[in-house]
Amino acid sequence: MIIVIAGPSGVGKTTLCKLLVENLDNLAYSVSATTREKRETEKEGLDYYFLTEEEFKNWKLQGQFLEIARVHNYFYGTPKDSVMKPKKAGKDIVMDIDVQGKARICEKFDDVVTVFLLPPTMEEAIRRIKKRGLEKEGKIKNRVETASQELKEVENFDYLVVNEDLSATFEAVKSIIIAERHSIKRMEEKLCIH
Ligand code: 5GP
Repeated sequence: MIIVIAGPSGVGKTTLCKLLVENLDNLAYSVSATTREKRETEKEGLDYYFLTEEEFKNWKLQGQFLEIARVHNYFYGTPKDSVMKPKKAGKDIVMDIDVQGKARICEKFDDVVTVFLLPPTMEEAIRRIKKRGLEKEGKIKNRVETASQELKEVENFDYLVVNEDLSATFEAVKSIIIAERHSIKRMEEKLCIH
């Protein structure tokens, strides 16, 4: 299955995804491509594939993306390989994408579980974005506006988790994944029922 983690900027999606991949068997992280600049803490090919706009356009022309979206004035996209390779290897995949990407992925794949991650308050989300220290004031405003838009999508998700405390959030999402792995729908394939 594909587990989509979406939610406003600064809510802790990336940290959560890393924890999940480190702690759950058979789970791969879908590395996206982006045209935004690399942050100091990020690693090429692990956090993102950092591309120029030209490179991004070429990947797009070559049909390398499953979906793309423009978020905060940058391009983001899910390379086909980031999903299809682990899928072929029989792994579940966790994705940190925005609500537009979530919609595309749900159209393309049957077996998708969607989790909306909420910050305890918008003030807390803004504080976390500022803590990154890299976003200029204008960009922070942009991210907050996007967050308000994204909040309207909550009702189209399967699960909602409020990230007050990272370890509790991790336990909640881990439980969701384990429960989903045991759903009869997925067990039917294993048991060859029908
Ligand atoms: P950030 O720049 O903070 O890493 O990410 C900004 C937003 O883009 C986040 O909401 C993140 O989930 C989203 N995002 C990251 N990768 C992708 C992608 O491949 N596709 C889409 N649609 N959104 C993405």
